[in-house]
Amino acid sequence: MKRRRFLQMMGGLAVAAWSPWRAVAQSYDDPEDIHARLKGTPDLKLVMGNGDISVVIAGDSSPLDKRRIEVWIRRSATAVSTYFDRFPVDHWGLLVVPEDGGHVGPATTWGYAGSITRVGVGREVSEEYLRNDWVLVHEMTHLALPRVPMRSEWFMEGNATYVEPIARAQAGQMPPQEVWRWAVDDMSKGQPQAGDKGLDHTHTWGRTYWGGAMYWLLAELAIYKKSDGRYRLQDALRAINRASGGNTASWSVEQATHAGDIAVKSDALTSLYDELKDRPVTVDLNGMLQQLGVSEVAGVIRFDDRAPLAELRRSITSPRGRSQT
Ligand SMILES: [Zn+2]
Repeated sequence: MKRRRFLQMMGGLAVAAWSPWRAVAQSYDDPEDIHARLKGTPDLKLVMGNGDISVVIAGDSSPLDKRRIEVWIRRSATAVSTYFDRFPVDHWGLLVVPEDGGHVGPATTWGYAGSITRVGVGREVSEEYLRNDWVLVHEMTHLALPRVPMRSEWFMEGNATYVEPIARAQAGQMPPQEVWRWAVDDMSKGQPQAGDKGLDHTHTWGRTYWGGAMYWLLAELAIYKKSDGRYRLQDALRAINRASGGNTASWSVEQATHAGDIAVKSDALTSLYDELKDRPVTVDLNGMLQQLGVSEVAGVIRFDDRAPLAELRRSITSPRGRSQT
């Protein structure tokens, strides 16, 4: 997907093209600067269930007003809170950096000294663009899991890639067809190419984002099958979030998979990690989509409710009640 390629192009960090008259504006590329800025008085303070969100708007955002920024943050936080059944961390600082243009991003999230995110937002961004924005939901998903060693960046990026559209669908913000379109159109970008040495040793964009997302889709199916339909990946991810407290924790991948496996009473996450970390494994994506009853006919995503895993597919994306507001 183009949008994710954009993030990759930017290397996750802000590299803005500055207009001369804004050349003196601080770009906040350094997390230390962002931490310092977030220690000041927030422009917005939101409470999402257990989660306190402090927002600082770094500079003049007009004509984009604060109220629209707040609606956008609340909508994104609602999606993530629906998926994880709580806002994923107790405290989160968000630095919104107004920029020229009508876009959202690039964005980066850190957790080593408190959960913080920096996101660029175009002053001319439309309401519709903000309503459909995926960037902030992706960043908020990063809050939920502990940080793992950089060789396993795919574990975190794949998780945010996998969870983001599902969280929005569960919150009723996106139709299920759009979620599965991402699997049909994009997930094959995560298949190993020539020279691949497994997910922990192949740090390409495709393997990091989509190879990682494939790991989590495989995990979704494995957890469902191993538990005879009793558990979902969502149960494991909620458990990892609760046990770690989110991205301020620094864990090994093994710790994370173990915590998730305990919740779903199998070894699904751990054995999949063992299988995929050190060797290239081409995944039968078409076979998985067929089992889930997902296909594309004349450009339209279709669902087959007689497929063996149709129940799992429906439950992954069906809107659900929320336990908090
Ligand atoms: Zn990310």
